[in-house]
Amino acid sequence: MGCLIYFMYIQVALPGTGYKTYTYIVPENLQSSKDKSSLIGRLVMVPFRNYSAVGAVLEYTNKPALPDSRLKKISGLIDSAYTLPANHLTLIKWLADYYICPIGDVLKAAYPPGVLGRARMRVCAGDRIPDDSKWQFVYGKIKSHRNGYIYSHAKQIISGISNSLIKEMIKTGILFLSADYKTSKPKTAAKVSLKAGFDYTSSASKLTLRRKELIDVLSSSPECTAMSKLTAMGFSRSIIDALTNEGFIEITREYDGAIALPELQNPEQVKLNTAQQKAAEAIIDSLQNNNGSTFLLYGVTGSGKTQVYIKAAKEAIAAGKSVLILLPEISLTPQAIARFSASVECPIGLWHSRITAGQRADVYRRVKSGELKVVLGVRSAVFVPLNNLGLIVIDEEQDDSFKQSEPPPRYNARDVALMRAKIEGATTVLGSATPSMESFCNAQAGKYQLLRLPERYGGGKLPTAYAVDLKNVDVEYKYWPLSETFIERLCMNIADEKQVIILLNRRGYSSILMCRACGYIALCPNCKVAMTYHKKGRLVRCHFCGYAASAPEICPNCKGTSFDYQGIGTQKLEELLIELLGEKGIIRMDSDTTAHKGAIEKIITTFEIGDKPILMGTKMVAKGHHFPQVGMVGVVLADAGLHVPDFRASEKVFQLLVQAAGRAGRTANSDDRGEFVVQTYDPSSGILGFIADQNYEKFYSNELLFRRELSYPPFGKIIRLVFSGKDESFTRWAAKKSAKEFAANLKTGKVLGPAPTGVFRLGNKYHYQLVLKGRFSADFKKKLKDFVISGHPGKDKGVLLKIDVDPREMT
Ligand code: ADP
Ligand code: ZN
Repeated sequence: MGCLIYFMYIQVALPGTGYKTYTYIVPENLQSSKDKSSLIGRLVMVPFRNYSAVGAVLEYTNKPALPDSRLKKISGLIDSAYTLPANHLTLIKWLADYYICPIGDVLKAAYPPGVLGRARMRVCAGDRIPDDSKWQFVYGKIKSHRNGYIYSHAKQIISGISNSLIKEMIKTGILFLSADYKTSKPKTAAKVSLKAGFDYTSSASKLTLRRKELIDVLSSSPECTAMSKLTAMGFSRSIIDALTNEGFIEITREYDGAIALPELQNPEQVKLNTAQQKAAEAIIDSLQNNNGSTFLLYGVTGSGKTQVYIKAAKEAIAAGKSVLILLPEISLTPQAIARFSASVECPIGLWHSRITAGQRADVYRRVKSGELKVVLGVRSAVFVPLNNLGLIVIDEEQDDSFKQSEPPPRYNARDVALMRAKIEGATTVLGSATPSMESFCNAQAGKYQLLRLPERYGGGKLPTAYAVDLKNVDVEYKYWPLSETFIERLCMNIADEKQVIILLNRRGYSSILMCRACGYIALCPNCKVAMTYHKKGRLVRCHFCGYAASAPEICPNCKGTSFDYQGIGTQKLEELLIELLGEKGIIRMDSDTTAHKGAIEKIITTFEIGDKPILMGTKMVAKGHHFPQVGMVGVVLADAGLHVPDFRASEKVFQLLVQAAGRAGRTANSDDRGEFVVQTYDPSSGILGFIADQNYEKFYSNELLFRRELSYPPFGKIIRLVFSGKDESFTRWAAKKSAKEFAANLKTGKVLGPAPTGVFRLGNKYHYQLVLKGRFSADFKKKLKDFVISGHPGKDKGVLLKIDVDPREMT
């Protein structure tokens, strides 16, 4: 008579292990008898290959074909505080399908750093003592250490021990491995306070002078006082400990960092204007009706969108719901955070690059327990598992920083947020002064409700615009490409003690061929995107479809012969400005000067306090900052942003320039409108005409024609596939062979390429890309996924494939 052993089988997703999921046995002692679904979404520790890993349970499965003896058992359950709610699991599965990414990798992105993945192993000693004397020595060493040693440390700590010896001892059961699972702990700080009910008068006689002083300090502050502050005041730890032991005071550990408590420094006197009121009411209406509507809050820069978000957030909180606010990385300045937290009047969990893993783990747990109801963060905050989600706000919804490109999942947090809202029935507000073509199109089609804030709050005016036609600037002019008008406005503003921001929106990676006299650049006849210049062979080439032609010696447009190949960079521009105005007074902000941590903040503060009159650089100078002393914003070459092989080039330039213009004339004195000086080869038509009066809608309808003509988004979708390998022609072959396969399967779209990517040769690898353009059915996506899983051409010979669905970077 044997007893019946009842096995349960689960499917577990593990990060970093590809598309497969793995079947494990749940041993009887870890099974819960009541509730069969209780393990779904649970994190579990499992043995995997030669290590121990943490993954998530996706579902229960039937007994697989393998005998039980070949299956492994899960080795433990992780704290249920990390269990994925059902809605979240749905979202994660959707994301894995939509972005064609292994579900384990999606899970990794969805948790605070370090929660999922490999667990470290400890090597521990069992109860059986070995006979061999050398083994006894090792055994004794390990046994003497209560929890054994971290596997990889053991060798260094114990002399004369080798990997093979440990393995041998494990095999014979003398030693065993156990997983060491710890998630990062949040940083806490000790706080000291008087114990409730402490009676000063009856205790005073027993106290020394120093102790009395300490109690005086504590009783004069109603809040807890930080331990660090007391020690700085000269109270020793022994005095504090003694008073604690006697029960007069108490020490608590409080979370330190990620939770911003309301800082009520000059709270704004807020009275919503009519447009704000109308917008807020529509959103609140949706919150009250729980109808999960999506709104596009389209309001010019400075129109007061933030106040609308705050009003809606307060309403959601009052109704007992939670709120998620997503901002682009650069907008998460301390001011923005203080403004939000002061206004919503409840603690906010912060989630961005400066929040440590431990702090994130803490925010995660507090959110999960329902203690925190508001989270403010960057793209990965979209995964924070707020309960009873009522409202999601995505400010600057068009911003590229919502898209993750590396590592996978290559998701767009805006789109994931929309799906999340759909699953959870939450109301969503997308906000922007220059909405993405996709979102505005959805609003026009009635999928989103359009809310408008057409004017700056308080009636502020947009800056006076000056357009400079670069065609009129002599290519031999000493300060080319700066025009006399530009230099004159610049000098005037500086003489008036105003600050100036100079924008050069050029990306430095590719060479371009531009006629200095008329601004001509070569466009691909098929894709209508800028082609890049290749010195070798004097070619211009399209990075979408691969079309190539020889570069002209004479400009086909104006017959000029003076070409610019590299494009002027920020460094060169800085040199020109120094020549013009001298060393002092110029701050450069680009990827070179902001590479180290804290550099951006430092540059912003230096400029903010007015130490330097000129801030110049790439698009970073234009984003969301508020510098009241800026009298002029100058754009050196507005067209530069168009010289990239990206069908979104115009849209991005338009958005950037509107944002840049919004930096001028933010002085409290509203008569001072500020100046916006733009140099371009095409001042009359093109996007510049729309920028002068910030006419987004005119720009939008014009751009839409171009998008429709070539089926670019929002009329079709794009999937980008990058093949990389050490052998150039083999990599190209792999891309080409794949292209054929897709073309046969893609009835509702086109396959462009293979074409070399912008960074064609990186490290010792060559990169070729395919661009799929069209409408992709779920069926096609599935085929694509199967294609990846079964192995693309060249995979066995080391060619790698990267898939980017809805890419934001096109080369
Ligand atoms: P946006 O995000 O639309 O660019 P902001 O929300 O930053 O605009 O608002 C611009 C300025 O107007 C801010 O300084 C803000 O404090 C102020 N403001 C906006 N709405 C109000 C209001 N209802 N009452 C008082 N000040 C407001
Ligand atoms: Zn092309």
